[in-house]
Amino acid sequence: MQDTIGREQRRDLAGRGFTRRDFARMAALLAGGATLPFYNEATMAQGLSALPNLGADAVRINANENPMGPCPEAAEAIHAVVSQGGRYLYGETTEFVRTLAAVEGLSVESVLPFAGSSDPLHRAVLAFASPTKGLVIADPGYEAGERAAKFIGAKVTRVPLRKDGSHDAQGMAAADPDAGLIYVCNPNNPTGSVTRKDDIEYLVANKPKGAIVLLDEAYIHLSTTAEPGSPLVAADKDVVILRTFSKLYGMAGLRAGAALGRPDLLERIRGFGAGAMPVTGMVGATASLKAKGLVERRRKIIAEIREETAGWLDKKGYACLPSEANMLMIDVRRPGRGVFEALLKEKVAIGRSWASMPNHVRVSIGTAEEMATFRAAFARVMNA
Ligand code: PLP
Repeated sequence: MQDTIGREQRRDLAGRGFTRRDFARMAALLAGGATLPFYNEATMAQGLSALPNLGADAVRINANENPMGPCPEAAEAIHAVVSQGGRYLYGETTEFVRTLAAVEGLSVESVLPFAGSSDPLHRAVLAFASPTKGLVIADPGYEAGERAAKFIGAKVTRVPLRKDGSHDAQGMAAADPDAGLIYVCNPNNPTGSVTRKDDIEYLVANKPKGAIVLLDEAYIHLSTTAEPGSPLVAADKDVVILRTFSKLYGMAGLRAGAALGRPDLLERIRGFGAGAMPVTGMVGATASLKAKGLVERRRKIIAEIREETAGWLDKKGYACLPSEANMLMIDVRRPGRGVFEALLKEKVAIGRSWASMPNHVRVSIGTAEEMATFRAAFARVMNA
């Protein structure tokens, strides 16, 4: 399995404080990615072992998926390509890169395609963090990067979110003078909170020299106020952006995503290998990017259901953090784990709690009908 890491990578790794013994763990992260217990939302969802037995009638609002699925244009493109799936069809990946680059105002050299964003997230940790170069993250935040960093022996420094849910740019810039990677999720998972452009610019301008800011924009399309970081990439800053088609575009199972960054930074991520892309994901993503008004339409639908749910919860005395994504953090005023288990018995699978917010649960936004089922179950379980 260590063959996953080539000679050049070994030299780079040795230079960054990795020992030969670490190579096996790095190789496991690359080759076994999707089977590792911290790979993506689905693998981190609470009570995972119970979920497969839930049955088709269960409400699954635990992994920030989009129940709308791929848009009709994407579904049509995917159906049309299936019969040609015996071929690699690299041209479809080229077309995806070209389309995404045009939408973001970037050169094609600044776009590296992936089957989702978990893969480049882990590869960025391998490329920029190490036993001598730490990872700085926000708390609460999306855990995959932290777990990958710990897996390879990199130091992790957590910086609490500010009271308004934004990333503490000043705190993160100063958190670790030896930081190799600083991870900012905007909007944040699990809070749905937004970090303003001036804070991100401060972080990029004041981070330790040589550190890279990893902007995870998995939920960017769902927000009306979060500003994409692509101008920072266009300006050649030390920034890598992650994009996924798993959220607003409804393609979590189909897999498409990308890393956006200066070509030399992408080269360091690519150095750990990126093979042929699933052609279904590529054509679906390209069709989604070309679908007129899709982002605005879906953002509005999800926001309406989210605000209706938050309003109902508020009336029942359960406050939610203000969210601009397809999730709500609900203060259930008791250990969240118990609420999760009680709702699971009602066939409603909600998301997990975070150690720093044990009395909150994260609930993803499902369809209006699913959220009505959630509300009824929540009222029963909480006596609300
Ligand atoms: N980043 C964040 C913040 C996420 O919440 C997720 C999934 O929920 C991912 C990355 C990875 O998603 P995917 O690999 O499906 O793109």
